[in-house]
Amino acid sequence: MLPHDKLDWIVDRLTRQIDQDPDDPALRRERARATLARAWFHDGGESDLHETLADVRRSLHLDSSSVESLVVGGCALALLDRPEPARRHLDEASNQGIDSPLLHAAYGLLAELHHDATGAIRHFETSCRGAPADWEPHALLGARLASAAQPGGRQRLIERAMFHMVRALELGPIGPRANALRHTLGQLCLMSGRLDAADALFSQLIDADPWRVEARYHLGLSAAQRGKHKRAVLYFRQHLAESDARQSDVLARIAACHLHLREPERARDACTRAIAIDSNHLGARWVLGSALVAEGRDDEAKRVLRELLEQAPGHAPAFAELVRMRTLNNDARWLRQALRSEVAVFDRLPAAGGSTSRHPDVTSEPRTATRERIKTLIKGLSRTDNEVITTVMSCIDLTTDEGLRFTLWESVLDLMARERVPKVAKTLQEPGATFSAAAGREALLLAEHIPDEALATGLTVGEEDLLRAAVDRHGPADDVVELRQRVGLERREARAWQALLLLAIAQRSSNSGHTLLLRWAQDADEELGFAALTGLALLGDSDAAAQVRAHAKAFGLPHLADIALRPRQLMGTPSRPTIVSDDDTLQCRTCGKRGGQVSHMLRSVSGDVAVCAECLTKVARQRSDLATSDPTVRCALTGASLLDDEAVYVYMGVPISQASVDQSLGADERATVDRFVSAL
Ligand SMILES: [Zn+2]
Repeated sequence: MLPHDKLDWIVDRLTRQIDQDPDDPALRRERARATLARAWFHDGGESDLHETLADVRRSLHLDSSSVESLVVGGCALALLDRPEPARRHLDEASNQGIDSPLLHAAYGLLAELHHDATGAIRHFETSCRGAPADWEPHALLGARLASAAQPGGRQRLIERAMFHMVRALELGPIGPRANALRHTLGQLCLMSGRLDAADALFSQLIDADPWRVEARYHLGLSAAQRGKHKRAVLYFRQHLAESDARQSDVLARIAACHLHLREPERARDACTRAIAIDSNHLGARWVLGSALVAEGRDDEAKRVLRELLEQAPGHAPAFAELVRMRTLNNDARWLRQALRSEVAVFDRLPAAGGSTSRHPDVTSEPRTATRERIKTLIKGLSRTDNEVITTVMSCIDLTTDEGLRFTLWESVLDLMARERVPKVAKTLQEPGATFSAAAGREALLLAEHIPDEALATGLTVGEEDLLRAAVDRHGPADDVVELRQRVGLERREARAWQALLLLAIAQRSSNSGHTLLLRWAQDADEELGFAALTGLALLGDSDAAAQVRAHAKAFGLPHLADIALRPRQLMGTPSRPTIVSDDDTLQCRTCGKRGGQVSHMLRSVSGDVAVCAECLTKVARQRSDLATSDPTVRCALTGASLLDDEAVYVYMGVPISQASVDQSLGADERATVDRFVSAL
């Protein structure tokens, strides 16, 4: 968009020419572009911008048709933080038919001045499309996206920012500007867990002033993320020695590293220094509390954590630590009271809003934070309170919020199930003496809490067990006929017990359970083999399902098979489509193109639907027109509805989810980023 090579030389040359020929508008226009480039992209100063403006005015005066100068002037004014005259210049250029990448970049700057991030991104995108081979629009867009991206935020945003940073670097900015791009790209790599790439980028900056100080800090962050806490401390200390910026932050990070290295005393020391600088530093307070816990100084730890929670009630780890300490001390009374007061206060909490803390440990929505605390308390109570079920039940009426009441009710059911598990586990240990249809039903109900092996052990019931049960459970028989009858009764009990255990194993949908069912379906007699087959059918085995249906039909009970084999999950969970390149057997559902005609196709898991990259890009461009608000529409590729994804679009009659669009758009960009970072 602008000149970048040998700018000082160009400006000097033009200045000499203008001295000789002060009324040549072309020379003025050229010098305006050069001084603008120097100020915008090469650490030039305000004086450059004032010269730009002077040249723009003069060239317009000499040649009123030089509308492009209006754009250059608009840029300079926006960079000088003068939005109103900037807008007048740009609107005038636009009215006169100018539609250049530089114009859109300038509008982007203007949007940034008004803190309109969305508008800035839109304009920089347009600029990028207009000049895809220029590095400036990529750098502007990448930087804008990077400052919108946050750790733990939307992955797609981070990916896009990385892509444009990489493109800007590949297209070759000159000089120190490249270091700024490397720095931002490094931060994005840290955010997305590409630690090797982050290390490579920051290592390149360690000899480049003024980036060295920042580079050391980020190398410290990366080392800490890798668990190399000693090295992290080293980098952080170097950073501290050279910079006064964010001292309390860095000290808190050093403290956290010492805590990982099991050096609580040093951790405490660093925290105290951090808190001396910033008395409200959440991270430092949290590490201090943890260090005191590690040193066994419980009373002091409790005080620090309580103060921390007063400052940030949504700090979940601090609350969990307090509950853990109370649980260890068997302080059921405290836990019970805490639970009652958390539930009682819930209705009065605002439904949204609360503190605006962006600390990753802090939940800012008061209701969400309280729900978390309630769960933590119930967990603590389940270990200390013998009457935990009664305790939780008695809390249900303290709130009128149906959601919270349901959560409490659910946890009561869960606690009850857990209470019964030891009894059932015991039954499973000696199945020969304890088998019964009723016990089998209980095992099936509690299947998710019982390990596979325990259920498998329960399956072993032999002939001698039946005989013993016939005597033990019914008393002495009068004759052999009666005895045989009783053995028959016990055999039915045993078979019901075994069949129910097989279904319980199926319920757990584990790999080992699947193998066991296959074996039973093959080796067992017809009745139990059928139970195993039903288990396999429940796990989604379509052959098994067909056999079960046929069997049920033979007994005149086809509806039973229908009920039993109805999919357990009524809502299909969305599945991730596959990216396929160069497969001509695939045809785009919307435009009919073949796999070989496009860069890639997205294919649904079932394989029966494919949509091409070009159509998905079109969907992205027209997203606001194509979005549907109908919650019953499901993406043809993922099966997601509006309940699963943030948006679903309908393009040429084919529903397509946001995740599919993101995946396709991201594919080429990810490949570009991968190539770049692997060469670092
Ligand atoms: Zn297509």
